[in-house]
Amino acid sequence: TRSMEFKVIRLFVLLAATVKAQVNPEVCRYPLGMTGGQIQDEDISASSYWSESTAAKFGRLDIGGGDGAWCPDIMSEPHGLKEYLQVDLRSLHFITLVGTQGRHADGMGNEFAQKYRIKYSRDGSNWVSWQDRKGQQVIEGNRNAYDVVLKDLEPPIIARYVRFMPVTDHSMIVCMRVELYGCEWLDGLVSYRFVSFFSSDDLTDGTWGLDDFLHSQIYGVWPGYDYVGWSNRTFPKGYVEMIFDFDHVRNFTSMKVHTSNMFSRGVRVFRQVTCFFWSDSEWEPGPITFRPTPDRVSQRARFVTVTLGDRTAKTIKCRFHFSDVWMLFSEVAFQSGSAVYNTSMGPGKHPKNPLTVDDPTHKVDDSNTRILIGCLVAVIAILSAIIVIMLWRQVWQKMLEKASRRLLDDDLTARLAIQNRAFAFRHSSLSSDSGSTSNSTYERIYPLCADYQEPSRLIRKLPEFAHSAENLSKPHTSGSDGAPHYAEADIISLQESSDGSIAAANMTPFTGTDSSLREFPREKLSFKEKLGEGQFGEVHLCEAEGMQDFLDEDLSVGEISESLLLVAVKTLREDANKNARNDFLKEIRIMSRLRDPNIVRLLAVCVDTDPLWMITEYMENGDLNQFLCNLRLKEAPDEDKPDYTKLISMAAQIASGMKYLSSLNFVHRDLATRNCLVGKNYTIRIADFGMSRNLYKGDYYRIQGRAVLPIRWMSWESILLGKFTMASDVWAFGVTLWEILTLCKEQPYSQLSDEQVIENTGEFFRDKGKQVYLPKPPCCPDSVYNDLMLSCWRRNAKQRPSFQEIHAQLQENMSA
Ligand code: ADP
Repeated sequence: TRSMEFKVIRLFVLLAATVKAQVNPEVCRYPLGMTGGQIQDEDISASSYWSESTAAKFGRLDIGGGDGAWCPDIMSEPHGLKEYLQVDLRSLHFITLVGTQGRHADGMGNEFAQKYRIKYSRDGSNWVSWQDRKGQQVIEGNRNAYDVVLKDLEPPIIARYVRFMPVTDHSMIVCMRVELYGCEWLDGLVSYRFVSFFSSDDLTDGTWGLDDFLHSQIYGVWPGYDYVGWSNRTFPKGYVEMIFDFDHVRNFTSMKVHTSNMFSRGVRVFRQVTCFFWSDSEWEPGPITFRPTPDRVSQRARFVTVTLGDRTAKTIKCRFHFSDVWMLFSEVAFQSGSAVYNTSMGPGKHPKNPLTVDDPTHKVDDSNTRILIGCLVAVIAILSAIIVIMLWRQVWQKMLEKASRRLLDDDLTARLAIQNRAFAFRHSSLSSDSGSTSNSTYERIYPLCADYQEPSRLIRKLPEFAHSAENLSKPHTSGSDGAPHYAEADIISLQESSDGSIAAANMTPFTGTDSSLREFPREKLSFKEKLGEGQFGEVHLCEAEGMQDFLDEDLSVGEISESLLLVAVKTLREDANKNARNDFLKEIRIMSRLRDPNIVRLLAVCVDTDPLWMITEYMENGDLNQFLCNLRLKEAPDEDKPDYTKLISMAAQIASGMKYLSSLNFVHRDLATRNCLVGKNYTIRIADFGMSRNLYKGDYYRIQGRAVLPIRWMSWESILLGKFTMASDVWAFGVTLWEILTLCKEQPYSQLSDEQVIENTGEFFRDKGKQVYLPKPPCCPDSVYNDLMLSCWRRNAKQRPSFQEIHAQLQENMSA
């Protein structure tokens, strides 16, 4: 057997039931951020690298950078077998899938790892080699330098650190780019855990060994596979000591050991077990000792239950004493009440482990019928739990649908359907925790569009854009199973919809022609200075020669001095991946169709060749947030400081731009001062139709490392129901108006953490008068605060004013 040589076995205990309750391995397959960038460069390291340009940070799947991949210096190490690329995920993750790729570097490279192994660790010091259920460690890797090869990790792993170790004969240079897929491993939401281990190398699979340990439940493995065994000859003290480390302190009710008792072959249940508990800094006095009644009759494998008397510990050390030559275990299970999260069950009333028969008298359970009954009861309990969860889910779904139908406008129904599904999934995975506590609620209230949660998944489904401007102008739809993506969807669906809603408004939906999508000769742009940095790349101030030939007559951008025009050129970073590229093209498509004095204008594009550029009108004073901040910081003389009327006029311009967008039924979704640009004389244009968030990272909230959301600007229904409508844009306008009138002195709700902001959203939903509103800015008249600002944050979306009304009200206010 595999672990006889270990005298002391230190085990990291996997919480199998928790994993099953919280993680659905079929869904838990999100890219964890090598490609997407959520994993930072400093969290990617390697045993060695060939050169600076093939350092660890270039080992990102689909990206590469540098010379195209991570390549170890295999010559530095005689067998080239210990080289690794290490990813630190910063917290425990449930990892179900890995992807690898070689070094292509646009045809310059041709190195890849045909085989590799994986090691993983939870603390960075104890490393475990991954192996499949047959004990196979080597994974088939790549066959060429460019294709991504995905490998399902069966069994999946729970780890913080993962190492990819190319297996190679050292004459060959190998290079790798990798991605990990899975999800964050959330802990502490269920009240008790069923813990099992399988062998000293940290494998949990929930399979019990059969009575005859020489047979296995898994086909095609060696005899004894299901068991871990020890012989008393290698343990002179007469006992095997195991240490179980848990992720945090818990109250332990009991431990169950599944053990063989094949005494005809010298295997018996342990004679005695003594468990010690470590909570803070020492082993507590008073270990628990338990002696199972010896069974000399039945050779059946069985669970032995050891009551742990609700002892608190983070680490448990148990000494199992031999009663024969061999001890063979197939599982050790712990039942615990969480010391951190208290659920509806009172102390000491921990539910019985549904999978086994509990035996409070500590007797070895040897009766066939009892096991059978136990199993049946367990199956029934599990089935009823599933039914209850499903019913509960349906009720919830109905309630939510009703609530949202009653309270909100009924547009975007297609999106809602998707959200409900998303919500149902989230809800089912968390419904066991009905007594919500402040630190756990926000996890469950994210029923957002799949596309908003993880845009990259959807973008991949969109047809690949051709690079020509001609193709850019064609509308695209998402795949049949995908939701329309972000704001673009509204434009596209509108454009394609033949129903009368737009016609009734007597507006051509897209007054903008695609002339702005014409290719501008790059060589006629000369760079002047960098204006800022966006999500996609830099924004530069440029002089454009001959731009006026490109502009329609209606355009009044700046003064066209002879043939030179100042423009802003937004660039796509050269190393941008496909997703960023698609986002960039999408923003171009959206902007090309919008035309309004208060919407930033796209003038032309350079997309025929890389790098991609979009040319927009230049707004001398940058974004409104910076502009207001600077005014405040400058302590400028009075004439420079915007007076109240000027502030209101800026807000009115935003309202006017939004009025235009609402006439197209276009939902912006990210209205905020940071996304408005300021030109001469306090002219304002709304910008940012992509998902651009770099400089203002702090304004966005990251859900489990994936979606980023501007929660402080979002209406309660956008956060809780994933519903984005004109009315939620109105909510964001209220926050934007608040920013303007406070001169962007502080972030909205700056005294609240992100989690508290979401809690507050829950208060808006519950409407018990406990919700917190942004306070009245000092310069804001009572009437504006009460009649306008607060009305934008009304719970009932239908009661919020329209942009038309807001605009009229602001204009009235200016002239008053
Ligand atoms: P992000 O992607 O972070 O939203 P953008 O790429 O739109 O940002 O722009 C980054 C910064 O560049 C803005 O915050 C702004 O200061 C500046 N900028 C962008 N577009 C213009 C423009 N048309 N005129 C002047 N400055 C601009």
